[in-house]
Amino acid sequence: MSGLTKITSTSTIGSTKSTTTVTKRTVNLNRTRTNTITSSNGTSRSTSQVRSRSSSIFSRKLYSFQDLPFWQQDNDKILTGYVRETNSFSKCIQSLFYFNNESVNIYSHLIPSIAYLFLSLFLIDTFLIPRFPTTSTSDYVFINVFLIGAFFCMLCSGCFHCLKQHSEKYSNFWSKLDYLGIIILIACSMISLVYFGYFDHLAYFKFFVGLTCTLAILCSMVVMHEKFNVAKYRPLRAGFFATFGLSGIIPLATGFYIFGFHGVIKRINLTFVIWEALFYIVGATLYGLRIPESILPGRFDLIGSSHQVFHCLVVAGSVCHLKAVIESYRLVHSNFKN
Ligand SMILES: [Zn+2]
Repeated sequence: MSGLTKITSTSTIGSTKSTTTVTKRTVNLNRTRTNTITSSNGTSRSTSQVRSRSSSIFSRKLYSFQDLPFWQQDNDKILTGYVRETNSFSKCIQSLFYFNNESVNIYSHLIPSIAYLFLSLFLIDTFLIPRFPTTSTSDYVFINVFLIGAFFCMLCSGCFHCLKQHSEKYSNFWSKLDYLGIIILIACSMISLVYFGYFDHLAYFKFFVGLTCTLAILCSMVVMHEKFNVAKYRPLRAGFFATFGLSGIIPLATGFYIFGFHGVIKRINLTFVIWEALFYIVGATLYGLRIPESILPGRFDLIGSSHQVFHCLVVAGSVCHLKAVIESYRLVHSNFKN
């Protein structure tokens, strides 16, 4: 290939030298031809340059699992689409604007977090509260307890998935906040529903709030403590989270005892609470087993991985919980008799 190029350029030089006595027009034509050739070559060169440049941008931004530093290697069933350690806050923010294997994780929680904030600041005040003039300040507060909890949890999650590419230090910090967000969402979900479910049994409400807050604090200590932030203690952390989540059975079982099965169904809109629990359990199971990417590694790198499915199911579960809280609130203000 390089030999052919040489011959062509020699003949071009020769032809240019032999046209010294040719008319201006011919020279112009030659020039035009040369320009055309040059232009044609230039175009093809620039196209290939654009191609190579865009491919270099692509390859610079997205990496395969093996290209990652050790601390970033987490799920070996996700083979490609990674943003490699950036060591730059602005580069992490830039990653919001091109598709990578964290994009769905980021937006699946960032968009709902904004929606929950919007609900808390505007929609609840405009469309729900005015319909029930008997609403007390504490009713208002406990609806918002859930909305703000959901907002905080999903905001922390979205930030974690965007900023964890910065460095190991950032990743550790934001992963703790991500866990803290989950703890706050669980606590706020339980407290808001127990408030409306036990609206006429204040002593029970206080006891369950005390229990929830104690477990939340214990769970937070385990998550935030540096000693437990290693792989060895992952089962312990998972155990705390599971215990905390399952502690919701206590107020539920107590409700069955005090109000009876139908009483509980009415008071807390049990159907939606069951849907919520199912979404969370299925999501956590898929996430724990890394399904579907463990079955077909590389197939779900950008869309459809277990973490993304888990995120979507968490959003679905939280929407079910919101529905249960709102229905429970409406019931309290609709002359409900058990
Ligand atoms: Zn996540």
